[in-house]
Amino acid sequence: MIRERAYPVEPWHVRETRLDMDVLAQSESVFALSNGHVGLRGNLDEGEPHGLPGTYLNSFYELRPLPYAEAGFGFPESGQTIVNVTNGKLIRLLVDDEPLDVRYGELIAHERILDLRAGTLHRELHWRSPAGREVKVRSTRLVSFTQRAIAAINYEVEAVDGPLRLIVQSELVANETLPAQSKDPRVAAVLESPLLAEEELTTDDGGLLIHRTKVSGLRVAAAMDHDVQAPARTTIESEGYEDWVRTTTACVLEPGQTLRVVKYLAYGWSSRRSLPALRDQVNAALAGAKLDGWEGLRREQREYLDEFWDAADVVVEGDPEVQQAVRFGLFHVLQAGARAERRPIPAKGLTGTGYDGHAFWDTEMFVLPVLTYTHPAAVRDALHWRHRTLPYAREHARTLNLEGADFPWRTIEGPESSGYWPAGTAAFHVTAGIADALRRYVLVTGDVELEREIGLELLVETARLWRSLGHHDRRGKFHIDGVTGPDEYTAVKNDNIYTNLMAQRNLLTAADAVMRHRDEALRLGVTDEEAASWRDAAVDMHIPYDEELGVHQQVEGFTRLQEWDFAHTPAEKYPLLLHYPYFDLYRKQVVKQADLVLAMHWRGDAFTPEQKLRNFLYYERRTVRDSSLSACTQAVLAAEVGHPELAHSYLREAALMDLHDLSENTRNGVHMAALAGAWIALVAGFGGLRDHDGTLSFSPRLSSRLSRLEFSLQWRDMRLRVDVRPHQVTYALRHGDPDDVLELRHHGEKVRVTCDEPVTVPVPPLEVSGPAPEQAPGRSPLLRLPEHEP
Ligand code: BGC
Repeated sequence: MIRERAYPVEPWHVRETRLDMDVLAQSESVFALSNGHVGLRGNLDEGEPHGLPGTYLNSFYELRPLPYAEAGFGFPESGQTIVNVTNGKLIRLLVDDEPLDVRYGELIAHERILDLRAGTLHRELHWRSPAGREVKVRSTRLVSFTQRAIAAINYEVEAVDGPLRLIVQSELVANETLPAQSKDPRVAAVLESPLLAEEELTTDDGGLLIHRTKVSGLRVAAAMDHDVQAPARTTIESEGYEDWVRTTTACVLEPGQTLRVVKYLAYGWSSRRSLPALRDQVNAALAGAKLDGWEGLRREQREYLDEFWDAADVVVEGDPEVQQAVRFGLFHVLQAGARAERRPIPAKGLTGTGYDGHAFWDTEMFVLPVLTYTHPAAVRDALHWRHRTLPYAREHARTLNLEGADFPWRTIEGPESSGYWPAGTAAFHVTAGIADALRRYVLVTGDVELEREIGLELLVETARLWRSLGHHDRRGKFHIDGVTGPDEYTAVKNDNIYTNLMAQRNLLTAADAVMRHRDEALRLGVTDEEAASWRDAAVDMHIPYDEELGVHQQVEGFTRLQEWDFAHTPAEKYPLLLHYPYFDLYRKQVVKQADLVLAMHWRGDAFTPEQKLRNFLYYERRTVRDSSLSACTQAVLAAEVGHPELAHSYLREAALMDLHDLSENTRNGVHMAALAGAWIALVAGFGGLRDHDGTLSFSPRLSSRLSRLEFSLQWRDMRLRVDVRPHQVTYALRHGDPDDVLELRHHGEKVRVTCDEPVTVPVPPLEVSGPAPEQAPGRSPLLRLPEHEP
């Protein structure tokens, strides 16, 4: 775990003030840069020491067999694993006779800063070699948001004493040796030398490598070029071999003089393009980057982020750690989605190989809600990606003897990549999440064109899945049996309430969309009878409820299962999945992550306030939060049922998941859903944002620690700014026409906001009723509120 306050609390930076070798791998994830297409882990320029070297391209994967001790019909036969592609980050430095290596000599100072407004990772170090020669190195790295294929590094070496002979070796290296991985199922498979060399080329100032994967047959090209500025005579030459290309710059500096090398990197990959085409593609991208130069790339990066922050920033007063963390989270969420362009947004983004680089339901249920309200263009692309994978989803449904489309539990390219069906194939709810993400995107942006173009087909095919997966019993109730909901400690059960409620909305959304696009629906073969059968299924959906206890059941029969023996479960046995057999977890009342509680967030319209409170109290005592996806949802519901202080603790847990490495696996990549969850906990929790019935509604109320929460939401062409103070809230519209009006709800009351006039309304006092929520023994929120803030 990263110790408390490893990074000083600053509103716009994540700063590491000294190099801590024990948490190198974690910091590589925290400092990863990406634009959704290219991802670079925050490895040191010189490559060593490292925790996990990593350079990723979205959807560049290798196939590997999924072995089964006992095979079964329909089990996926191969899985996809993200590949560590050619490393272009490497810049080694020889100071007289000594390679700069922070493990040797004396590291007088070392600082790294992730600048959330500039979109750069900056590093400064002051090093004395074992022979006593001193240099200062300043390097700044960016992965461009504006030029999708491009990354660049501005590398400067200053001679402190001298004359000093400096050799800078800038490299492209393929098939790096990777450290062995643990047996933790959340870690990726290690691929040994996954890339076959196809071409290597050098020029004076750079070079290029082209490789191909052995089984998936994908081709990757990486190219580099350099601009060198030095006050003295300099030599530059390049050489190359199958798996590496190196450009070497040599010069002698006097004290105080600086050598500057700007490295431009371009990446491209394709399953179809020829080798010459790919070569030209990366060379063209390099030419574009060089045209702008380092300063131009930096300026564009800043402008892109200025625009993003204008739309997306969240101001938090009263908890500076959360202020920093929510911006850090938004930055990573943007990095994951900005230029993914019809490719997936994986659970770790492009920051590490955790979960093999797969995308899960995390995308639609955690990441996309945030992007919908802050950067909807990325959501449009993500929905296009799902649409592009429809053929796989249809085929999967056919394999399971079902109609419509069944989206995979985990994947990169589209086919199901989970080798464990009870928590993979059986987790059908991922499909309803996609329909809901589409619904929300159309609602918020008004982009009916996208609904017509791809949305309707997604809705129709997902509705068909639910209709064929469920059935009416003899009393007419509709059931969805034998499925796994979000709680992975309860598997293959009947009528998971989250799945049923999300499927219900999916069915109704599809039936409504068919009415709006009748011609397109006809082309998809939808008859009036079929659409009516979706409505029937939705209306008749069974919602399991325990009359005796007065609480809903997460799955039919859940409340009569044996209780988990929390009293005899020591702290070191968490996460339970690493210490207990699934057999035991599945038959007891123990909840890995919010499930029914998640249903109460996204389908809050299906519960009364009293039911929400009772359910929350019941499930809170049984939820262990062995998934990083849970805390934000518990924050949202804790706030809704009148426990803002508890909500604040859960908010901190979600927000600080990676900055404090709370799950102790940030080394494999950041937890994108939890980072998105910080925004969700603030905006849906303390802001009370809901969009159930197509209207924006808010129930803002702060915890006692917060003096202010201000956030922006995109709504059609307008931006709504919500400024929440302890006793009042101001709603203001920007970017719209003067006569634009937005009707919203504030604590249930209608409020009209125009661009001319912000509206300020009071926050009604909190009425607390019933007992305080209790957690399962030993499972209270990990981060309590700090006693004192500076
Ligand atoms: C969670 C899933 C999640 C996956 C990837 C698992 O631990 O239980 O809900 O989709 O991690 O983040």
